[in-house]
Amino acid sequence: MLFIENSYLKEFETKVQKIENDSIILEQTAFYAKSGGQPGDVGKLTLNGKEINIIDTVYDHEKNILHVCESIDDLKTGERIKGEINWEIRYKHMRMHSALHLLCSLLPYDVTGGQISFEKSRLDFNAKDKIEKEQIEDKINQLVKDDHKISFEWITQEELDKQTDLVRTMSVKPPRTKDKIRLVKIGNIDLQPCGGTHIKSTKEIGEIKIGKIENKGKMNRRVNLSVND
Ligand SMILES: [Zn+2]
Repeated sequence: MLFIENSYLKEFETKVQKIENDSIILEQTAFYAKSGGQPGDVGKLTLNGKEINIIDTVYDHEKNILHVCESIDDLKTGERIKGEINWEIRYKHMRMHSALHLLCSLLPYDVTGGQISFEKSRLDFNAKDKIEKEQIEDKINQLVKDDHKISFEWITQEELDKQTDLVRTMSVKPPRTKDKIRLVKIGNIDLQPCGGTHIKSTKEIGEIKIGKIENKGKMNRRVNLSVND
């Protein structure tokens, strides 16, 4: 999982570990696998001048990362392979993901759901109050301009248990683990456990447009947003 430490890694070399139906498991990978509302990466694998299109990246039941191929022929376990992610799509997902953390920092409600995509992203909040679109748009763009640094911290499950306010997602509690948990820190304004890919500073997000704020039930406000290309 090379993307955990370095979300800017676009190309890498590795070996084929296993082939499962239409998917390839690599010894290591920079392809982000679908999770936490962020889509899996697309891109290509190259060996001996031959290209294999990767149309999705997902986890299997054992938490292996599956590179889902358009078609595979003539590929053997142990072969050296070059991976290249579609950077245009991934980078947009990174900017969107960091933008959603900023949105979260501005609204003091529990998050009940969320989804990132290339065109737009959204978060659902457990809120009964009206959310003012213009006000949020001004505030979030100010946070972008202030250029807050985005960095990681690592804590244990026990440490996280003591700080319940760090977990903002009501519906999807992060899975319990013996491993260290990564926190994504945005300056002094937001800190939360997250395994997604992020940019290095908020300026990289560029201008954020707050879209429709929808009423999805008594206690559920959906805030849509997009970022410029
Ligand atoms: Zn996140």
